[in-house]
Amino acid sequence: MKAVVYHEPYEVSVEDVDDPNIEDPTDVIIKVSSSAICGSDLHMYEGRTGVDTGTVFGHENMGTVVDVGSGVARLKKGDRVSVPFNVACGFCRNCLAGKTAFCLTVNPGFAGGAYGYAAMGPYSGGQAEFLRVPFADFNCLQLPAGDDFEDDFAMLADIFPTGYHATTLAQVAPGETVTVMGAGPVGLMAAYSAVIKGASRVFVVDKIKSRLQLAESIGAIAVDFSNDDPVEQITHATDGSGTDTGIDAVGYQATAASGEEQPATVLNTLVDVVRPTGRIGVVGLYLPEDPGAPDEHSAHGELLFKIGRFFEKGQKIGTGQADVKAYNRQLRDLIVAERAKPSFVVSQTLPLADASDAYRRFDNREDGYSKVVLKP
Ligand code: NAD
Ligand code: ZN
Repeated sequence: MKAVVYHEPYEVSVEDVDDPNIEDPTDVIIKVSSSAICGSDLHMYEGRTGVDTGTVFGHENMGTVVDVGSGVARLKKGDRVSVPFNVACGFCRNCLAGKTAFCLTVNPGFAGGAYGYAAMGPYSGGQAEFLRVPFADFNCLQLPAGDDFEDDFAMLADIFPTGYHATTLAQVAPGETVTVMGAGPVGLMAAYSAVIKGASRVFVVDKIKSRLQLAESIGAIAVDFSNDDPVEQITHATDGSGTDTGIDAVGYQATAASGEEQPATVLNTLVDVVRPTGRIGVVGLYLPEDPGAPDEHSAHGELLFKIGRFFEKGQKIGTGQADVKAYNRQLRDLIVAERAKPSFVVSQTLPLADASDAYRRFDNREDGYSKVVLKP
């Protein structure tokens, strides 16, 4: 089958690899209909992880079941499913608590598995014609048959639940104000989730014009950090009080405003802009030291955090990968009821053959390249 294969930093190509097979009785194989490119793929693409050459990328997958293991009870051939990026067993202590991003069975060393992702287990990715899904009864979310809402459902494997998770970590409540750092696909989904939860005002900070326009399209307030300090802009707009909550959808990879040498750590910006006793949710990635990563990149998880200021303000913080299964059923039903349309972030749907070019342009954060969905 054809698949997107990683070679070296800034180089992926579409080539022939072996078809996946049922390896365990609880597996299914799906024929992939959509697999999106994620900001998380770029950590590998830019060579900051120890990902192996030959890895097939793709953790935002959906498709149709074409083969079923003997131990699968619920799914059958022909079912249309969304596949959470987390590979989870369903029976370990963390899965039983709903913390499927921290499954202890699939990846005990790291806690948590994902498809096509460096340190997160041996699971091949879905930017390919077919994908093996372990513990399939537990992991697959059933979708209505047909091809309605394809681009909306394609957001259910990761970024819509991840954005929603960010608002849960920050405990966003109706009527509250929110600062979202980053208008990438994840930040936009966090802002959208805050709107769905009834936030009164949602500020979205970025410097890419087309992404800020998307934020405005859902009723958020765009804050361009290349114009002026975002803390000053938002503090001014909230009459000096700051916002109730804040969301980090950027992570360690923050870029500086033009003219500034050092980017501010986004987390510190949130400590400054969120009011005393407010809450902060972090879904932007802070990579731990990776023994397989090239030396010059190995310490990037260590960033300065203003713990003193954070303590003084009595704020709370929540972090981590999203437990997709905790949210995807409800978000699917919002899509079906036409109460949510997360595909507003999708800027391109492209054949798998265009993956190499699509990676390059999404990685350059090209204007108008907010979210790419590949169609194997
Ligand atoms: P992205 O790289 O496309 O988006 C990041 C955005 O942040 C860009 O638009 C960029 O211009 C903006 N940005 C950069 N520096 C900034 C600054 N100083 N202030 C404000 N904005 C700034 O990626 P994405 O797909 O939106 O993902 C965002 C992060 O979320 C990544 O780190 C990704 O790995 C992570 N992620 C986490 C989970 C999870 O489960 N926790 C899931 C998916 C993605
Ligand atoms: Zn993703």
